[in-house]
Amino acid sequence: MGLRGPHAVGLISRWRTPEKPPRKRCCRRCNELFDPVRRDAVYCSAACRQAIYWKRHLANMKTDDRPTFVLVLRPEKGIDGLRATKGLQKFALRKFGLRVVTAKEQRHDICVVDGKLHEVSQSARV
Ligand SMILES: [Zn+2]
Repeated sequence: MGLRGPHAVGLISRWRTPEKPPRKRCCRRCNELFDPVRRDAVYCSAACRQAIYWKRHLANMKTDDRPTFVLVLRPEKGIDGLRATKGLQKFALRKFGLRVVTAKEQRHDICVVDGKLHEVSQSARV
């Protein structure tokens, strides 16, 4: 090796030791040795990384044990039911701290089948 010829090597690189191959690491999830692709790799595969993410994500999700209340409102004649309901939602939140979780419009149509009254409900989200 020298400074001439087809395999010439510079002076500085002659004493430089070649980079070590990356050491095998232990996956934090499955505890198996793996060759890390990145310097900061922690998990052996994307599957292990995703599994840890979901485990942590599900642990952070809290179940809500607050009670909910169901109201069924019917507007008087000549009242815009949708507009009144929206106003009531706003008022309930501001005045009493009651937030509407779900609201849907339900239309009850009455039909007569075999002489009996049947109520057919059609739902539509507000
Ligand atoms: Zn793993």
